[in-house]
Amino acid sequence: MLKGIAASSGIAIGKVYKLQAPTVTVSNEVKGSVEEEKARFNAALEKTIKDIERVKEVASANLSEEELAIFDAHLMMAQDPELASQILDMIDGGNSADYATEQVSNMMISMFESMDNDYFKERAADVKDVSFRLLCNILGLIIPDLNTISEEVIIVAEDLTPSDTASLNKQYTLGFCTEIGGRTSHSAIMARSLEIPAVVGTGTILSECENGDMLIMDALAGEVFVNPSEEQIKEYEAKRDAFLEEKKALQVLKNEKSVTVDGHEVELAGNIGGPNDVEGVVNNGGEGVGLFRTEFLYMNSEADFPSEEEQFEAYKAVLEGMNGKKVVVRTLDIGGDKKLNYFTFPEEMNPFLGYRAIRFCLDRKDVFRTQLRALIRASVYGRLCIMFPMIATVKEFLDAKAVFEEEKAKLIAEGVKVADKIEVGMMVEIPAAAVLADEFAKHADFFSIGTNDLIQYSMAADRMSEKVSYLYQPLNPSLLRLVKMTIDGAHSQGKWAGMCGEMAGDPNAAPLLLGLGLDEFSMSATSILNARKIIRSLSKAEMTEMAEKAIHMQTEEEVMELVKSALNK
Ligand code: PEP
Ligand code: MG
Repeated sequence: MLKGIAASSGIAIGKVYKLQAPTVTVSNEVKGSVEEEKARFNAALEKTIKDIERVKEVASANLSEEELAIFDAHLMMAQDPELASQILDMIDGGNSADYATEQVSNMMISMFESMDNDYFKERAADVKDVSFRLLCNILGLIIPDLNTISEEVIIVAEDLTPSDTASLNKQYTLGFCTEIGGRTSHSAIMARSLEIPAVVGTGTILSECENGDMLIMDALAGEVFVNPSEEQIKEYEAKRDAFLEEKKALQVLKNEKSVTVDGHEVELAGNIGGPNDVEGVVNNGGEGVGLFRTEFLYMNSEADFPSEEEQFEAYKAVLEGMNGKKVVVRTLDIGGDKKLNYFTFPEEMNPFLGYRAIRFCLDRKDVFRTQLRALIRASVYGRLCIMFPMIATVKEFLDAKAVFEEEKAKLIAEGVKVADKIEVGMMVEIPAAAVLADEFAKHADFFSIGTNDLIQYSMAADRMSEKVSYLYQPLNPSLLRLVKMTIDGAHSQGKWAGMCGEMAGDPNAAPLLLGLGLDEFSMSATSILNARKIIRSLSKAEMTEMAEKAIHMQTEEEVMELVKSALNK
């Protein structure tokens, strides 16, 4: 059994699909006759062409014509008679098919790379890609591709990139299991948005299983079993069914209010990564969207920053999908571990402390303005709130808001309809902002506390690192005080305070957050109904008293004990 972190709850039982590029080892040992080597090459070439055609066909559902052009370039390369004839000549000279392919490809790659012309430099990348496919086919190695999965599997990988999670087909993905990552890594967050069970941070799963092995993934306990016994499978099938039953039973709360026994009402909202996640929020009784992470629009774009029109369509779809309920859209939060294909971030010693999020947007106002225009134009389709990520100083907030006001005024002057009221708020995820919350609240319409980053920056502990994950302590009194300062700061100016970090959906944190006066809790859609059940069982007055005690404690363990005894009462 392997232990990991339960990142997205559920239980999956199914076959392993390893998402791991194969290691190619070429040898010049000729196994058969020259004719047999040639046949090996020709068959591999034919398969390579078919593979590229199939990948292109599957990808055409999601990519634009421009983005699909890359596959045409690869096809042209694979069908180039010059490439094949040079390789066949080398095989005639007594070399193996794999060796000849590698030699000829390397020659072409160096030739293209040495040319002083961007077009030819890009062709070098095409040859690399095609020759890798070709070599794998000659050697009988499988290149995994999420786009082409056509049966139910559990995906096993070192980690999943945001573009991997974007390619996950929910129909066939029973769950995924990674070697690295924590509860707040982006793959984990996406798993919850997609409602796919996930266990992350298992350390060595790739070396413990083979493609096609059976796997039980218990994403409630964070445990993974490779090639389990029949009895284990039966036991976990029963657990899975019970989990699904319980989930179904919570549906009775879907249209109920999130109100405490003494009549205090809060709002439970969902976190989304794109228009496709809206359905999950609605189906789970979300009272709004508390965080739309727009970086996925940017990360899924292949060649350039997404256009104003593309963004407008996405924001409009979300606002319409939420049917007048509040939608909080966060402006671009890129940098740190979130990279773009078409933009190179500067090399920095500490990217999480560097050029990212609002810092990037205030520097690249062209990119920022495009997003704001798309948002302001979409504002007429629902109740839009905009917030800026990673705000550290009041000046940053005012500068960002000024850009928003300028774009709004321009659009109005152009005769474009915009909503009467668009709330403009900010994420509180840097301790400096939490400490100065009462001053920020004079300018911001609302706060949303980003505990994933707030904890990482308060504890100086990288949220991706397993080694220091013990410092990820949402219930630490120091963190609770920062949360309290933020909420009190908002309320002092008559503003509302929400939370969209993972802590908002943590059942153990809910009683404290309620007690501290949090107005809005935004979480993975699948956590909403359980959170509602908890809120409806609590007394606001009692939780206020308990939270007051908690902030005067010294350790997270003490707070945990306090919460447990309150919940058991
Ligand atoms: C956070 O930091 O808590 C947050 C919600 O943002 P992200 O996880 O996208 O950094
Ligand atoms: Mg953050």
